[in-house]
Amino acid sequence: ISESDELRAFEATGIYRLAESGAAFLDPVRILNASYRRFRLVPSAYYSRSFGTSRQGGEAETERTGEASPERKKRKRKRQRQPKPRELNEVERMAEARHQEARPLLSSAHKSLLKAKDLLEFLPRMIKEDVRMLDVESNLEKNLVELGSSWRAPLCEMTLCFQKSSGEDSEEGICHKTSTPLFNSTISIEENDDAEGEFQDRRYILPRRCCFLMTDLKHVRGLIPDNYNQGYNLIVVDPPWENGCVRQKVAYPTLPNRHFLYLPVQELAHPAGALLVLWITNREKLWKFVEEELFPAWGVKDHTVFYWLKVKPDGSLIGNLDLLHHRPYECLLVGYINLNKEAVRGSKFKFLEERRVIMSVPGAHSRKPPLQKLLSEYIPGPKPARCIELFARELVSGWTSWGNEPLRFQDAMYFFNK
Ligand code: SAM
Repeated sequence: ISESDELRAFEATGIYRLAESGAAFLDPVRILNASYRRFRLVPSAYYSRSFGTSRQGGEAETERTGEASPERKKRKRKRQRQPKPRELNEVERMAEARHQEARPLLSSAHKSLLKAKDLLEFLPRMIKEDVRMLDVESNLEKNLVELGSSWRAPLCEMTLCFQKSSGEDSEEGICHKTSTPLFNSTISIEENDDAEGEFQDRRYILPRRCCFLMTDLKHVRGLIPDNYNQGYNLIVVDPPWENGCVRQKVAYPTLPNRHFLYLPVQELAHPAGALLVLWITNREKLWKFVEEELFPAWGVKDHTVFYWLKVKPDGSLIGNLDLLHHRPYECLLVGYINLNKEAVRGSKFKFLEERRVIMSVPGAHSRKPPLQKLLSEYIPGPKPARCIELFARELVSGWTSWGNEPLRFQDAMYFFNK
């Protein structure tokens, strides 16, 4: 295959820009790998859904044999059955109108992906780049959510190991160790090298210059910077919205909408402006709550919509685009806090106005693709931008990650040594 410039750029950055539609295709594994110096993510672990392996990312579903559980088979059969035509109720009509508004954009993005033959030929290789498979039976992760809410949480300590090399003669691999409380305490890796954390016989990989705080929402105010000028320029929020699907899979605890009104988003935003990204489900009631209550409370203005369209490794959609309750896409609302359009005029900053589509092969249940690289030109304020993710389940170099399980995908079983 003769590789196009775009494919070469994709191999280097994890982003393939589809000029015809303005959409972008992402490889989260390549993007996340930029956070590490000595480690790499295991692609087959990230793309576990495409391998049909069990339990990774909270999906107690298809076993490695390819056999699905009886409940899963039943759900699939039910979905595939032709729905009897019936009148839509008022909420469904509103959801359908919103879908119809997005449909031409989604459809044109997908068509442009199907035309990118070099990328499509590359995708199966990208997913199966590494044949290492997780031994899911013996690799059960720690339940950090449960531990963090137990009486033992204040007693839990993590041992941080920093690799030291002092000059040419020194042996590689000498580890400098230090201990720190694991819950309710901010942990920062100041070094420009990855560190490792040990906790109750498990090892976690911590990217260089990352920072995390593992607490319940009750303690979220611990994130507010002491200094006004240390606010964040990019704030990504992926709340545990209440939703039938999450409850069914018991993937993580959820919270009623009103709890998110108390997130200190305003206090986290940089005074010179912040780009706010909010992941939202397709429920109509939720859109109304966000647009009428949550964004005004957080001070978010000028928002637009991004769509995350999920595809299989062969480029086809993971489901029928028009299936009412099972859309193959999720939405993100992207808006600004404290943005003074006059003050940023003439700078390299670009104001985000248009709707956009991003596409990728999904990872574990509810795991979202990383966005900073794609959004970098739209982030206001000083550079490098200060970035934070609220309700995070992984760490990123240069970011602060907060939630009740920000180490979830940092378990060493998801990584290999470079
Ligand atoms: N963005 C993440 C990703 O890409 O993997 C997924 C986030 S998931 C939608 C929501 C997260 O919020 C889960 O990790 C869940 O455990 C966490 N969460 C639920 N209740 C919480 C609480 N009271 N305090 C802090 N985090 C909470």
